[in-house]
Amino acid sequence: MNPNIPGEQLLTLAKEYGLPLFVYDAQTITRQISKLQQAFTVPDFQIRYACKALTTVGILQHIYAKGCGIDTVSAGEIQVALKAGVPPEMISFTPSGVLLQEYAYALDQGVHVHVDQLHVLEWIDRHYPNTAITLRFNPGIVAGGHLKLQVGAEDSKFGIHISQVEKVKALTNTLSLTVAGVHMHLGSDIGSSGSFDEAYEYVLNASRHWIDTIERIDLGGGFKIPYHPNDQRIDIMSFGQRVSDRFKAFCQEVGRDITLIVEPGKYLVSEAGHLLMEVSGTRDIGQTGLAYVSTGFNHFVRPMNYDAYHHIVNLSNPQGEVARFDVVGYLCETDTFALERDINTIRRGDILCLMNAGAYGFSMASNYNTRPRPAEVLIDEEGNARLIRRAETLGDVLRTDIGFSI
Ligand SMILES: *Cc1c(COP(=O)(O)O)cnc(C)c1O
Repeated sequence: MNPNIPGEQLLTLAKEYGLPLFVYDAQTITRQISKLQQAFTVPDFQIRYACKALTTVGILQHIYAKGCGIDTVSAGEIQVALKAGVPPEMISFTPSGVLLQEYAYALDQGVHVHVDQLHVLEWIDRHYPNTAITLRFNPGIVAGGHLKLQVGAEDSKFGIHISQVEKVKALTNTLSLTVAGVHMHLGSDIGSSGSFDEAYEYVLNASRHWIDTIERIDLGGGFKIPYHPNDQRIDIMSFGQRVSDRFKAFCQEVGRDITLIVEPGKYLVSEAGHLLMEVSGTRDIGQTGLAYVSTGFNHFVRPMNYDAYHHIVNLSNPQGEVARFDVVGYLCETDTFALERDINTIRRGDILCLMNAGAYGFSMASNYNTRPRPAEVLIDEEGNARLIRRAETLGDVLRTDIGFSI
């Protein structure tokens, strides 16, 4: 597993912008978009990037320029999408458990909302009559790699459980709202397509209850990408083909074309991202060396939150003898990036590259231990480095902390 960007260029960027630093590669994002566009062969196909994976304006600008819409989960994300120049009709809003004000914000902007609670349906009907909405169903199926990433299970908080479809139908019969779509999102890391297919059938069947008004069917995201060098890459071509064939048969049966939407987050951006980090010290402990890096789960939480494997490469000692290392962060708490890894010998001052840092990296970063968040650089398709977010300063971090001053 090598970085998508030459090591020399990454080292130059490290010098220029300081560390830690997120570096993204636009070509990789474009390639992932093209793969989906080729794999799904329905006449009316749309990708709506789930922007919580990486919410930086420059990333959304690039993704929108490639023909994708944006799926959002908060008023803030809607604002980022609008700031990126995405028109409201290309934005959807798929929140969970938010207050009605947030729906109001989305509806006022002309953004299409996905509704997963019955009281929200009634409220929208009262305040925004005749609006077209999408219903989010939970097909009651478990898929996804980690317990915290499974959002389709029966007792999950996400979506109206599929067993309630008749009840929802009875309700929507009494409302002015138009049910223009049905939606599901099974969770992240979907590789076992069996459960996906089953859920897909449920959702197609649910849509039959509103078949006269259905314009879109949204299958969510969660497409798996390889994190570990031994991870299999999902065969997106055959997956897309199978889903498309089923969809075409469905459209034929109902007698018209319906838009098929997918909402990938990590599939588009994960592999495009690199987190560059500096080694602040090393220690020998028995067989395994210990390398401290000057970042932690304040900047990248996936290894700690999800036990996720992220490959780490020593950029500044690529020919060094391979030895076994643990890589740990600088927080005053356990923050282990990697255990027992064979890496080119790590010395104090080396620059390491953590791979697959695009998705749920910066967007989950915090100011824990009162540390500013890093800058982000996008290598555009011409190979030019573009700063798309400056590093936070301590001033930025402290600005809201007003003590007893007022
Ligand atoms: C998070 C999310 C996605 C994207 O998930 P990935 O695993 O990043 O592909 C898609 N749809 C919805 C509704 C989400 O909340």
